[in-house]
Order: sequence, then structure tokens, then C-alpha cells
Amino acid sequence: MPFSDPRTAAAQATLPTRHTLHAPAAVLDRFSDSELASLITLRRTLHANPELSTAEHATAGRLDAALRARGVTEIQRVAGTGVMARIPGRTHGAPVVALRGDIDALPIQEQTGLPFASQVAGVMHACGHDVHASWIVGAAMELLREPAAGDVLLILQPAEEIGAGARAIIDSGVLHGVAAIFGGHVDRRFLVGQVIAEPGPLAASADSFTITLTGRGAHGARPHEAADPIVAAAAVITAVQTIVSRRIDPSRPAVCTIGSIHAGVAANVIPDTATMTGTLRAMDPQTRALLTTELARIAREVAAAHGVEAVVTIERGTPPIVNPVREAAWAQQAATAMLGADAVVPFGITNMGGEDFAFYMERLPGCFLRFGARAPGEPPTAAHSSRFDVAEGAILVGAVVLAACARTASQSLATGRGVDDAEPSSGSSNRPML
Ligand SMILES: [Zn+2]
Ligand SMILES: [Zn+2]
Repeated sequence: MPFSDPRTAAAQATLPTRHTLHAPAAVLDRFSDSELASLITLRRTLHANPELSTAEHATAGRLDAALRARGVTEIQRVAGTGVMARIPGRTHGAPVVALRGDIDALPIQEQTGLPFASQVAGVMHACGHDVHASWIVGAAMELLREPAAGDVLLILQPAEEIGAGARAIIDSGVLHGVAAIFGGHVDRRFLVGQVIAEPGPLAASADSFTITLTGRGAHGARPHEAADPIVAAAAVITAVQTIVSRRIDPSRPAVCTIGSIHAGVAANVIPDTATMTGTLRAMDPQTRALLTTELARIAREVAAAHGVEAVVTIERGTPPIVNPVREAAWAQQAATAMLGADAVVPFGITNMGGEDFAFYMERLPGCFLRFGARAPGEPPTAAHSSRFDVAEGAILVGAVVLAACARTASQSLATGRGVDDAEPSSGSSNRPML
């Protein structure tokens, strides 16, 4: 008897059926039983074989193969370990829309106990990117069956968790000429079948900082001979809490968290330096700017009061995501058409998490959605938890709604440009990828 490959055998353990997927019937009815099984198996195979940001080599190979197996012919690698595919539209010259799913995992030891749990020690799909990758493959199936007006680019993006992948995709130039972009994230706070597609803020900016305090070390018994960076650090930590409480408009969400502090090696020695790192979160550019300038000013001036020098370095991360009205309306229209109006629910949460989809939205019109990912009765386990799992019906909802977003946006943009939808596409085989 041949040995079975444990990497795929685990993924096929007790697949759910259309009756146990908790997805709306209108979504499930668009897929055959074998299509459902193949998408779930793909997700479980990705889940069992997670790869960290920029190392998604096998993941990219699996996704490339999954797209090819479903009839996608124009596929290329992009941004190192990313995969891009083009699904031809109905009409030559109609606007091109992109759909993005991220594919990387996290440095977390999985503790779900699932039969298809990670087989890689210390690496886990704890943010649902295995689901996001799978729903883009599902969207490809949808768009092959029912194309958009224009071509649709499918972007399977690496390295979201380190905030590098979207920038790498943009820098590669493949989005040149794309008229709009859509993407989404699973959210365990909502049930499978619920979709958030609304204008306004959806994710925060995420900038990180380092504060290095340099004083003068001395014997712990002779503090008057020192400029103590630990006491200065304590004062700085307390003082920077006033940025959010006293300097930022209370109606504007903001976070200033110091997440690490390192100083000293012995109980009776005052060290020369202390180093702290932290994160700044905001929902609008003005608040984001104020956080960074006030952090630097307060750290420097409070440290100076202690005879210590503070050097503050800010590493700019993702900007906030603020969905524009027009694109959010398209997403809402698409979700409503596929799931019914009741499925589109208000977010009702101020999400201070960051998401590198924001880099696309600095350059392109678009909308970022959130997709419910919890089955009824399950706990709302947070992303980045070692026990995080996704109710797999979310794969189908994401696939169907994102494909519908592409169709809705492409059609609206084509109508706006006066593109004649009666003119058939000349076929994409002679055109280069963008
Ligand atoms: Zn994440
Ligand atoms: Zn994520």
C-alpha cells in the first residue's frame, strides 16, 4: 500500500458538506459538491502547511496549481512569492478591477487540535489568510463562469503580516491601469454570511517607534553620580499616556502603546541606556501625524528634565483604511445582490488593527470588506490567537461577494466611461499582463 502524503491527507479529514458549512444557500448553490470539497481541501492544505511572510514558496506553488486546475490560463509570479492571474472580461477595453487576497502565516504555535492543524512548528495561519487565498481561487471560478465587463486581476499577495507585500505588489507595476481594487478579511465577531461593506474607517494606521534614552551609568548606591535612564524611561512612559488623553480630540480614535522596555543587567548598577519600542494607531492622517510629533516632543523634553537624551525613531507602517463612499456602495450592492440586504451588517466597532491593503487604497479607488467567519454557537476567538479557526463557509461567501464586487465595479466604471458592453473582448492571449 503506497504511503499517503500527510500534507494533503490531513486536509481531507472529514470535509464539511453543504449542509454543515453554515453559508447561505444562495452562495452554496453556486458551487457543485466537488467544487466545495476542492476549495475546502485547498484551504486545509494551505492551513496545514503555513509559511511566513516572504517565504510563501510552496503556498504560491499550490495557488498557482489550484488556479490552473480550474481553467485559469494567465498566471504569473509577482513580488517574489506572490501570484497574479488575469480573468478575461466580456468587453474589450472595459475597466480592469483587481481582487486581492493575502497568503502569509504568523510565527505562532498552533493549539487548535484540528485534524488539519499546522504541521510546521511555530508557524500558523492564525489570521485567516489561508481562507483569503482560497476565496480568491473561488472568485476565479465565479468570474470564469460569469465574467466581469473588464478583465479582473487576482492578486495573491505575500507578506501582509509584515506590512511589506502590498508595497511590493505596487512597486512591481502590475497594478498600472487598474481602475479599482477590492479585498477583505475574515472576522470571528460576525457569523458566516454577514458582510461589512460600508464607507468610512475600517482599519487604523500602524506605525512603530523606538525610543533610546542615553544617560550616564553609575553604582546603584551612588545615584547622584548618574543620569538614570530607567527613571527617565518611567517618566516618559507615564507622560506619553497624555498624548491620547490630553492632546488628541476625544472623538478621534488613537492608541499609543509601549510594548517593550529593555535596560540594565544587574540589581546594583544604573545602566547607561534604556530602550523602548511601541506602536501608534490612528484612523485619520491628522491624528496620525499628531501622535508622532507629540511622542517625539514629549519623550525628548521629559528625558531632558532628567538629564537624559532621548532619540525617537518612527517607522511608518500602514496608513488607515477609510473606505470611500462610491466604492463602498458598489461592495454593498454586490453583497446585497448575492446574499440579500439583511446580510450586510454595520461594523459597529472601531478597529485599531492595521492592514496593508491600505497601501493600495492610497493609490487606487477601492473598498475593504470584512466577512463573518464564526458558526453559530462558536466563540469569537480573536485573530493572531493560537486557537484561531475560521468557519469554512466564509470561503464561499468571500469568493462570491468579491467576484460580485469586481463585476459591479467594472460595470459601473464601464458605463461611466461610455464603454460599449456589446463589443466582445478580443481575448486576452495576445495582451501582456499589466
Ligand atoms: Zn494578521
Ligand atoms: Zn490578516
